[in-house]
Amino acid sequence: MDLGLSGKWALVCGASKGLGLGCAQALASEGVNVVMVARGAETLHAAAEKIRADLLCQSSGEALNGVEQSVLTVAADITTPEGRAAAFAAAGGPGMAFDIVVTNAGGPPPGDFRDWDRDAWLKAIDANMLTPIELIKATVDGMAARGFGRIVNITSSAVKAPIDILGLSNGARSGLTGFVAGVARNPTLAAKGVTLNNLLPGKFDTDRIKTTIAGAAQKTGKTVDEVRAAQIAQIPAKRFGTPQEFGQICAFLCSVQAGYITGQNVLADGGAFPGTF
Ligand code: NAP
Repeated sequence: MDLGLSGKWALVCGASKGLGLGCAQALASEGVNVVMVARGAETLHAAAEKIRADLLCQSSGEALNGVEQSVLTVAADITTPEGRAAAFAAAGGPGMAFDIVVTNAGGPPPGDFRDWDRDAWLKAIDANMLTPIELIKATVDGMAARGFGRIVNITSSAVKAPIDILGLSNGARSGLTGFVAGVARNPTLAAKGVTLNNLLPGKFDTDRIKTTIAGAAQKTGKTVDEVRAAQIAQIPAKRFGTPQEFGQICAFLCSVQAGYITGQNVLADGGAFPGTF
């Protein structure tokens, strides 16, 4: 299916690894020009280089429709005003005129709520609530003026089924979810072809999950393989998701065909959430 995205511009945050990279890959393979942001320059540049190489294979060396497709990188911390300014100033990029914005940054650390001080909360809220809100604020009016826009926020299944040790994530992401629910229904955006949705990962095979599994193994005295197997056993699909399939869902939410889906929380968790709705 042609998603109708060829030639559009996407800003993909947290794009050097994991779920953000999956989104950047899926969008690029649909002919979207992408600006990829992450802090670590080396991994980011390698990820972009791999996407460029894949695109060359996909098009057998020919530029798509004779137009060169851009895969740009900005090594910056997206949770800072300077980092966001750098993303909007990417050389060869569209400035602030993105058609698609995928918001994403690392998740807050797990822990006990008794140990979190104001600073820990502000960091979590900055990364997982205020940064997406700033990116939305900077881009949606331009999208509405051009008649097309897609915001996809990578949040977490913890928004639907909170995990006690991830209180910082539960709290910050729920704030973003409430904000998005309201803004998505604003006719100045909804009637102008702009959709805002949240994509909620359950357990996906990325570096982040490897870290949390290693942490759990250390805490419980079990091996990494035992912890992994126990987690997989809880998922009806009996596997973790892949960043590639997460990216494909994101690309669909960005598609022309998904223009009537807005203000939704789309859960991708292999059936782990046990509720009907
Ligand atoms: P990951 O594999 O660790 O990748 C995170 C990506 O974000 C990396 O490219 C990282 O690169 C970048 N990043 C982190 N902080 C950043 C910042 N301040 N500015 C710019 N880039 C930043 O993580 P993931 O598994 O893809 O997770 C992505 C998001 O989904 C996280 O918020 C995570 O909590 C959430 N999530 C994941 C799962 C899962 O199963 N994987 C489940 C639920 C929720 P640099 O470190 O170089 O910046």
